[in-house]
Amino acid sequence: MSMVPENRECGVRHKFAVKHRDRVANRYPELTRQLIHWCQVFDEEGLAPIEGGASAGNLSFRTASGFVITPTRSRLKANLDWRAFVEVVRSDWRDFEVHVLGERTPSSDAFLHERIYALRPDVLCVFHGHADLILRHADALALEFPMAVTGEARVFGTADDAADTAVELGSANYCVRRGHGFVSTGRTLDEAGQLAVKVHQRAVQLDR
Ligand SMILES: [Zn+2]
Repeated sequence: MSMVPENRECGVRHKFAVKHRDRVANRYPELTRQLIHWCQVFDEEGLAPIEGGASAGNLSFRTASGFVITPTRSRLKANLDWRAFVEVVRSDWRDFEVHVLGERTPSSDAFLHERIYALRPDVLCVFHGHADLILRHADALALEFPMAVTGEARVFGTADDAADTAVELGSANYCVRRGHGFVSTGRTLDEAGQLAVKVHQRAVQLDR
């Protein structure tokens, strides 16, 4: 029997439909896998409690062009995949505008992440979360950990909040955002994540 003409491998070969969901492939599969892991840990540890239907918190890692970050109004939970994240590739402070790769809108704290990466070349990831116990015991925690505490409670998500919080973080890897939450940073995702968990667990002990 001779070759069925349709089976000759020329022209279009695939028979399934292809839907292009994004304009960019996942450029950082391993780091994204780790970010997904820490989103799940934040959820499980109560470091990103559900507030108004979305998780309060945002996590990012530095890239060659900017940073990959959780989107605004997202749920930090298990089984996220790379489409759940966006890469911020330009942050325009004058117009307060970001350019992103991906389908989603980046976290409203994106400018804070940008500022920390700009001021701290040693920092490769920035995690932000909420935990009442950390706010309650901020002063005691600051005696035990090399951390910064912001001087005042500010409205989050503004350019001033981003710029001032990044300055107040200084050379520390952890900062309590008074009246808001905390920021944990590190040279690796594990370092930032483990620090966040360690400080929170100490706050739980102090509360007993
Ligand atoms: Zn927050």
